[in-house]
Amino acid sequence: MAAEHADGFETLAIHAGQEPDPVTGAVVPPIYQVSTYKQDGVGGLRGSALGDAARWIEGYEYSRTANPTRGALEECLTALEGGARALGYASGMAASDNLIRVVCRPGDHVLIPHDAYGGTFRLFDKVLAGWGISYRPVPMTDPAAVRAALAERATRLLWVETPTNPLLSIADITALAQLAHDADALLVVDNTFASPYLQQPLALGADVVVHSTTKYIGGHSDVVGGAVVVADLALGDQLAFLQNATGTAGGPFDAWLTLRGAKTLAVRMDRHCQNAGRIAEMLASHPRVAQVYYPGLPGHQGHEVAAKQMRGFGGMVSFRAAGGEREALGICGRTRLFTLGESLGGVESLIEHPARMTHASVTGSALEVPADLVRLSVGIETCEDLIEDLRAALG
Ligand SMILES: *Cc1c(COP(=O)(O)O)cnc(C)c1O
Repeated sequence: MAAEHADGFETLAIHAGQEPDPVTGAVVPPIYQVSTYKQDGVGGLRGSALGDAARWIEGYEYSRTANPTRGALEECLTALEGGARALGYASGMAASDNLIRVVCRPGDHVLIPHDAYGGTFRLFDKVLAGWGISYRPVPMTDPAAVRAALAERATRLLWVETPTNPLLSIADITALAQLAHDADALLVVDNTFASPYLQQPLALGADVVVHSTTKYIGGHSDVVGGAVVVADLALGDQLAFLQNATGTAGGPFDAWLTLRGAKTLAVRMDRHCQNAGRIAEMLASHPRVAQVYYPGLPGHQGHEVAAKQMRGFGGMVSFRAAGGEREALGICGRTRLFTLGESLGGVESLIEHPARMTHASVTGSALEVPADLVRLSVGIETCEDLIEDLRAALG
């Protein structure tokens, strides 16, 4: 007998939760586009045709509770993040909201990044604050500031993004896990920007990983979805309960598209990183660019930590236009291949103006982003074409 062999990331992305259908041999999990399931006598639920993907349930009864295609995706994401269980949601925000409502009660306090994703900030500021959950933005790049904030007030959750959106700041997951656990808080990492291929927060000590699978995991700008991956099965059970109770799961076709995207995550991420690295270098030496934010650049605030905890530096690059806001807006309107649009993580390159687009909801708050900032989601097109496009737009 050979020693136990653990499958690699690429193998898991293609096979975890995706055994060929035992009845037909279908190589890809079918889209179980169904709401309800025939019972063999009252309570006689049938199990799954997809093996492991059904190990959490007694059988299928209703697709809000469980669906085989969603189960296949959840099984795959569990493997990719090295977690105990994953749950698939209709969006990243649905995933975040369910997680927070499982973990927090009125009166609880949360620390969030001072440059958090705008939608996450809005959820805490405009929705959850009204239900008695308070938050405070802190610089997650500064462990001393986090330690001080934790010492000041009992905290239930430390919510971390790394790299952050849109300034690509890097937080040290291992150091923050220690601080959170010393303070009896849970560490949640929004791993959307890195994807599980580049960074696995649970292995670094985080308790929970959140994803907008809309981005790199789906990877083709054709589906909105989210996921929570937990290290603790009891927390997984609580999440499954709330997901069913509140009806936040994603649909079967969405799960199928996301799973199809996940199969190529590794090869896509390699190319995203390669293209983004070259573009960041070009921008860093361009006279019309005042500053470049990319964790792969040696001068970046979090370069060393990123090199330690990530396999690559990712596909997102932000920069400040030397000519200020007007020039930033002009650049956004002059590209040919970089499409002006929100979102990120797809195979096609996107450009946007965070202050007026993705991060308009943080205007006037402590999280406000610079008005001269341009954000790029670097796709996997021919890199020379992307560089030419940006050079022309910069003028
Ligand atoms: C997009 C995004 C979200 C929200 O996910 P949706 O799928 O749009 O609901 C959360 N966190 C980060 C970092 C994101 O980029």
